[in-house]
Amino acid sequence: MTVIREADVIASVAGALQYISYYHTPDFIGAMGRAYDLEQSASARDAIAQILTNSRMCAEGHRPLCQDTGIVVVFVQVGMDVRWQSSRDLETMVNEGVRRAYMDPDNKLRASIVSDPAFKRANTRDNTPAVIHVELVAGDRVDITVAAKGGGSENKSLFAMLNPSDSVADWVLEMVPEMGAGWCPPGMLGVGIGGSAEKAMLLAKKSLMQPIDIGELIARGPKTALEELRLEIYRRVNALGIGAQGLGGLTTVLDVKILDYPTHAASLPVAVIPNCAATRHIHFSLDGSGPAVLEPPDLGLWPKVSWTADAGARRVSLDGLTRAEMAGWKPGERLLLSGKLLTGRDAAHKRICALLDAGKPLPDGLDFTGRVIYYVGPVDPVGSEVVGPAGPTTANRMDRFTDTMLGKAGLLAMVGKAERGPDTVQAIARHRSAYLIAVGGAAFLVSNAIRASRVVAFPELGMEAVYEFEVRDMPVTVAVSSDGVSVHDTGPKAWAGKFAGIPVAVDS
Ligand code: SF4
Repeated sequence: MTVIREADVIASVAGALQYISYYHTPDFIGAMGRAYDLEQSASARDAIAQILTNSRMCAEGHRPLCQDTGIVVVFVQVGMDVRWQSSRDLETMVNEGVRRAYMDPDNKLRASIVSDPAFKRANTRDNTPAVIHVELVAGDRVDITVAAKGGGSENKSLFAMLNPSDSVADWVLEMVPEMGAGWCPPGMLGVGIGGSAEKAMLLAKKSLMQPIDIGELIARGPKTALEELRLEIYRRVNALGIGAQGLGGLTTVLDVKILDYPTHAASLPVAVIPNCAATRHIHFSLDGSGPAVLEPPDLGLWPKVSWTADAGARRVSLDGLTRAEMAGWKPGERLLLSGKLLTGRDAAHKRICALLDAGKPLPDGLDFTGRVIYYVGPVDPVGSEVVGPAGPTTANRMDRFTDTMLGKAGLLAMVGKAERGPDTVQAIARHRSAYLIAVGGAAFLVSNAIRASRVVAFPELGMEAVYEFEVRDMPVTVAVSSDGVSVHDTGPKAWAGKFAGIPVAVDS
């Protein structure tokens, strides 16, 4: 009988979470590299180049791939011949591993988990608890898969009870455009088919733990109906032209994974969960011989990508920026921002707009007049950093506050990620504002442009506080111009249908 020690579980979970915070998996790096080689849309190619450059920087610097270091999801398969040497239950052991990983002073990760989700939404400060799924299986070892799932991609998860005669592929194709780009494509789609409602969701999530291998499937040809379905969804989704970050392009998904399970004769439960540019998961086994040993990937795996911030970009000074200057920005144009930016996201917007709507003053020192806001919740700095990885968060969560911010607060423009809703695009045009995007999944690269940081308001909100960043050459793309043209509309339309016939290279 194998004896699994508490200390080995805790150390292994902690080590795995640190590892996946800065290392992409080799299959993901390879697939993203192939997408970069194939991409013909200049904006999408630039976004993929930033994701790959960021990935390599994180692997070298041991800092998080994304400012959203995720909700921890753990799949544990416990062999029935295993005995535990522990005074704690399995859930407590796993959560202790999560706590250690997220509080590691050498690479502190962002604590994003809130308790009492319907009401107080109080940050638990150490990213616990994890979501843990346990199975009892035959054997004498413990297999653990650890994932850190970003909120932007998790928020786009969908479920439906289809009629048994409905087409799963048609439903997925209907849903993907509605997901928008908040899940930071290119990434993967996990599809769960069958079982019951909760089983389908679990299958979709589990399917995302598999390696990317669609190139091999294309090369050998599908052998089962499920493999045919994978290929059909992969080709049809990429033919939508959504592209990297929704800018329009050839690659939206790097792979499509499907798991199925028998279901009721009257039902066809289907779930789809996307995995983003910060796809983070790893598997290890415990056999009683000690904690898992995770080998660092070979840095030679990363493709040679020569991304430079200033290639063809317009330099913009944020200090003294005018509406007349913003009117010259073209949708899809790349800008390099320098000067002072304010930050803010959900919680700060809620407080600011409540004060403005009540006719009350904002806190001392907080004034948005003529300023640009960056929707971000950064990772805490370590060592000599002024701020940790600080990529954009999904902007449309701020849509309900935008008219007030542009009108009553005097805000000039915004930086975030993914598309804005139609009412917000109209508000941007009405106020002659602009909306810019930074690349989701390139957080460490973006944070290198931040030269100074100070908290301006609401310090008690932690990563959701309002900061003032001083940036130099921060790379962004014009997503909504001051006349209300959105690249998230025009880009995918321009690239729709162009994926067909593009060959997918296979690893040699
Ligand atoms: S890549 Fe995008 S969706 Fe993924 S964790 Fe980062 S911000 Fe969230």
